[in-house]
Amino acid sequence: MNKYVLDQYDRPMKDLRISVIDQCNFRCTYCMPAEIFGEDYRFMHQDELLSFDEIIRLVEVFAQFGVEKIRITGGEPLMRKNLDELIYRLNQIEGIKDIAVTTNAVFLVKQAKKLKAAGLQRVNISLDAIEDEVFKITNGRGVKTKPVLKGIEAAREAGLEIKINMVVKQGMNESQILPMARYFKNTGDTLRFIEFMDVGNHNGWNMSEVVSKKKIIDDIHEEMPLIPLDANYYGEVASRYRYEDSDAEIGVISSVTDAFCSSCTRIRLSADGQLFTCLFASKGYDIREMIRSGKTDQEITSRLIKIWTGRDDQYSVERAQKKPQRDKKIEMSYIGG
Ligand code: SAM
Ligand code: SF4
Ligand code: SF4
Repeated sequence: MNKYVLDQYDRPMKDLRISVIDQCNFRCTYCMPAEIFGEDYRFMHQDELLSFDEIIRLVEVFAQFGVEKIRITGGEPLMRKNLDELIYRLNQIEGIKDIAVTTNAVFLVKQAKKLKAAGLQRVNISLDAIEDEVFKITNGRGVKTKPVLKGIEAAREAGLEIKINMVVKQGMNESQILPMARYFKNTGDTLRFIEFMDVGNHNGWNMSEVVSKKKIIDDIHEEMPLIPLDANYYGEVASRYRYEDSDAEIGVISSVTDAFCSSCTRIRLSADGQLFTCLFASKGYDIREMIRSGKTDQEITSRLIKIWTGRDDQYSVERAQKKPQRDKKIEMSYIGG
């Protein structure tokens, strides 16, 4: 019944992103700049985080709406204690077909095997440069690429499917587009370039720092010819390409220069149980309060239908049309991408 209600709506809800923690071991300059997220920054307390029981209860409700895909994110999700237990339980929920984690990979060396054993299928690993001197700056903590490359290796050995995500920002790491493409063409891992976005309020975003999908593809194509591929499924956000002379793929997520709001099937749950229908929202809906005040599944369901069908988000389209922007947006480390 619930799935029926939402399938009639123009943007079906398919993809739930759950942030499980707002803390991180990195301070990427475009996400959690160290000067803002310093020693005295107040991260969430344990009792503010949704418990695993609370997350599972909500996902059971979401699954009835047609949500099939779960992405666990953060902050750095592998810093949440016993994450494998959550993955195991999510995997038991009827209707959930695909579970992935987005991570900076550093803790995969210790956790890849147990996450795989718990039922994790895929990891998206963030890596913004292959040269240490650039990566040390992008991650804001002076970390070299080795711990991330070791994490990627651990994921491979554990049998996890891997995608590599690289945020491209002019003046930060555009020099790494070709070196990253060459490196991952050789390993056979899919590399996805992400246009630098104006999420949050602190990354000093400016349109002149966005390296467009067109520029990224043109630069790679000149050296390593590419063939465009069809989307795998409705709402896929990456434009995909394959190299002419190999099976390796790349993708570009062009949220700035080629917005895809009309097919946005994502809903996001923050670590403290706020629900967001858009990455650029300024306010969420407090679902944790509903759970902790004893509301029934039916009451939560009615609220979700109201939230989703009342949704008119198209921030990226408005940005492209240079319409007035929101004053205060949620932070990427809070909502997890
Ligand atoms: N810590 C994990 C990681 O980095 O993979 C998960 C959370 S992180 C917020 C999720 C994704 O958002 C990463 O791929 C990251 O590169 C991306 N991201 C963060 N800030 C961004 C920005 N300003 N523009 C584009 N992508 C961004
Ligand atoms: Fe941490 Fe991921 Fe944000 Fe980097 S992008 S600061 S790794 S949450
Ligand atoms: Fe979806 Fe909002 Fe991104 Fe548009 S701007 S694709 S509505 S999250």
